[in-house]
Amino acid sequence: MLRKIVLLAVLLASSQIHAAAGVDDYAMKAQKVADGVWAIISPAISFPDPSNKGWNSNTAIVETSEGLLVFDTGSSETIGKALIKAIRAVSDRPIKWVINSHSHGDHWLGNGAFVAEKPAEMIASDVAIGEMKKGGADWVDRFHSMTDGATGRFTPVAAKQAVTKRMSRSFGGVEVEILFSGNSHSPGDIVFWLPQKSVLLTGDTMYIERAPATFDSNARQWIAFLDEMAALKPKVVIPGHGPVAGVASITRLHDYLNTLWELIAAGFAEGKADFEMAPAIKEQMKEKFEKDFPNIDDRLGQSISQLYLQVEAADFE
Ligand SMILES: [Zn+2]
Repeated sequence: MLRKIVLLAVLLASSQIHAAAGVDDYAMKAQKVADGVWAIISPAISFPDPSNKGWNSNTAIVETSEGLLVFDTGSSETIGKALIKAIRAVSDRPIKWVINSHSHGDHWLGNGAFVAEKPAEMIASDVAIGEMKKGGADWVDRFHSMTDGATGRFTPVAAKQAVTKRMSRSFGGVEVEILFSGNSHSPGDIVFWLPQKSVLLTGDTMYIERAPATFDSNARQWIAFLDEMAALKPKVVIPGHGPVAGVASITRLHDYLNTLWELIAAGFAEGKADFEMAPAIKEQMKEKFEKDFPNIDDRLGQSISQLYLQVEAADFE
């Protein structure tokens, strides 16, 4: 009987529905990082959870002669509304373009809030748009449960205008090189390079002061793409997660992924399984990178298993 009561109490506690967060639950502030460019940086270090109420990713705003360009829209429609409020604190110009760097839910589920702003275009890569349409409802469910309901329930709005290959384009007089990462962090990532401003909007191809999530990655391509981005020598890098920094941050993430890849490849060559090599690799990685990537402990275990499969596949090429 007692066991039954305890079980019931546990069930009730875990099924308790918390209220969704409101716009004013997010302390967002747009900080100017270059001429006509602002970043709204999430202080969160982890995935969406009850403490960050789902707001764990960054947004960039670029002012042009025709209106604003917004790059990434957060993990929920309410977070999208909070972003608009933070944008309105620095500019009252129309929001003309909404861009999604990739299809992971924390970078586009806020799109629905921007529909009311009547943007001329909502842009992502063709591959990312396909992923959004396929996985949108799952992302809403996943974040709802990861945040204890904070991100709420809503119908996700995928980007509409597809870019299919590298191109140069002017957005209201601001030149943009749209770069393709080669599916490095996730299938269909795009990066915006603003050469006149020396600003790079990277989405999740860049993590700063946070260890990268590799569950959807092609790590070897990612390492090569980081070289490509470093060669641009951007003065300002706005990452998908973490604070704004300069080009040295790109070299640092390159070093992290490359070292991890090399250690796993060496273990693989010795015939070790991932779980056999993991303890030594964790120790070596932490010694070298824990200072710059404080949440390394949360990510390394998964990254070793994920990259092990990629090293193994590369061996059969
Ligand atoms: Zn991502």
